[in-house]
Amino acid sequence: MRRRSFLALAGAGSLCGCSGAVHQLPQLSGENLTMAQAEVQSSGGTLQRRSLSDEEVNEILTSALRRIRPAASELCREMNVGVCTWQFRLSGDRSLNASAGANGVIVINRGVVEYAANEEQVAMVIAHEMGHHMANHVVAGQRNSAIGAVLGAVLLGALAAAATQGSYGSASATQAAARTGGNVGGAIGRISFSKEQEREADYLAAVILYRSGMDLDKARGFLVTLAKATGRKETGMLDSHPAGPERVAAWDRAVAEVRATNGQLPKRA
Ligand SMILES: [Zn+2]
Repeated sequence: MRRRSFLALAGAGSLCGCSGAVHQLPQLSGENLTMAQAEVQSSGGTLQRRSLSDEEVNEILTSALRRIRPAASELCREMNVGVCTWQFRLSGDRSLNASAGANGVIVINRGVVEYAANEEQVAMVIAHEMGHHMANHVVAGQRNSAIGAVLGAVLLGALAAAATQGSYGSASATQAAARTGGNVGGAIGRISFSKEQEREADYLAAVILYRSGMDLDKARGFLVTLAKATGRKETGMLDSHPAGPERVAAWDRAVAEVRATNGQLPKRA
């Protein structure tokens, strides 16, 4: 009897995967972290926001997506864990953020493209959100997202309306955003994915970019930008993706491993 209930509990635990990552991720050393902290502190200067037209924002996003999509789809099928059909939404929000929501929805804020120094950095953000879907992090977190979904629907509806009035977006984009608002809000309204899941999404992004033949060192600069923004609270709205020197250090460890394995996935956790 006792044995039976123990096994039942063990089964439930292994199915949940609530807080964890699908893969074994490299561990950070104190030295990695110290170096990243020094780099972020000395990177100085204000955050650089590029002034881009709507057409330029669209071109950069479309081009970045085109470059990584084949490798990302292949990797997702190889993992065979999560959602591999993605729907992309562009938000007129100028803060540095992006999110992954139910039904494969990926929202990229305009602010991501404006703060990114190059296409590789935009690709990294898209690939990170793809990573959350591939590893099924979104589904694993949905149990806690019901309240967030309600709040998020209101928030996204307001954003979409503002975007239509301004320079961005169209009536059809607004309607699409309103339709998916409840789902997208599930991700935005959630406090966060677990730290391990965030690291896994970054690792998968590194694999995707590597397999796409993109420059991982050029992409890395975005994490330094995020760490600067987090430290100074200049942009806010980073709640769903807190980032600091630790994330930069973890990226470096991931990239070293990805290069050493020629883009293979790590062992399953
Ligand atoms: Zn994330």
